[in-house]
Amino acid sequence: MRPDGSGEAQQKLNLLREIVRDCKKCQLYKQRRNPVLGEGPSRASLMLVGEAPGRTEDLTGRPFVGHAGRLLTRTLESLGVRRAAVYITNVVKCRPPKNRPPLHGEVLACLPYLVEQIRVVQPEVVLTLGLIPSLYVINLESTLKTGSKPPARYITELRGRLYACNVGGLNVKIVPTFHPAAVLRNPKCRSLFESDIKTAIEISGLRS
Ligand code: URA
Ligand code: SF4
Repeated sequence: MRPDGSGEAQQKLNLLREIVRDCKKCQLYKQRRNPVLGEGPSRASLMLVGEAPGRTEDLTGRPFVGHAGRLLTRTLESLGVRRAAVYITNVVKCRPPKNRPPLHGEVLACLPYLVEQIRVVQPEVVLTLGLIPSLYVINLESTLKTGSKPPARYITELRGRLYACNVGGLNVKIVPTFHPAAVLRNPKCRSLFESDIKTAIEISGLRS
């Protein structure tokens, strides 16, 4: 992990938390209890991006703290990385009703917050957890420019490859993998999930 360095980065994240707390840019604000900005060091070489908060996240205001989160945390720690060493967030900061997938318009409205998080945290690698975050982060530049929906793909086509994106001059590598909730439903994905996370850790330089 890079040193947490600047108080400036932390201040920017604190400000972002206040902005997101009052955000009404999409309809998801109506049913949220707590928006979930994310958590972790204000500078981190590895950032994890999930889909959207679920029930436990909505109740606590923290990302990945339910069943899927426990699997994610255990997997990181089994690979020698403390959860607290990585920055964890989602493409959408408020819980969609009944955990439905976020709509394109909701992701578009929320994406500038993720962009700001990437600019502040400056990760070497973004590990995207599941299809929706993978599609939007891989196609981040064109989505922001055109507002159009990324082309449909399967997570099984995307994972196992390395992608890149440029966020305001910052080059970030992208490692897509399954969503941990999908791994819980389908244990056959577990070894690929673990090897993708291992790849992301190694590329980020967190552990060689
Ligand atoms: N699923 C997600 O995509 N994100 C969370 O924070 C929790 C569950
Ligand atoms: Fe705002 Fe994002 Fe919440 Fe929509 S999901 S209200 S854009 S913080």
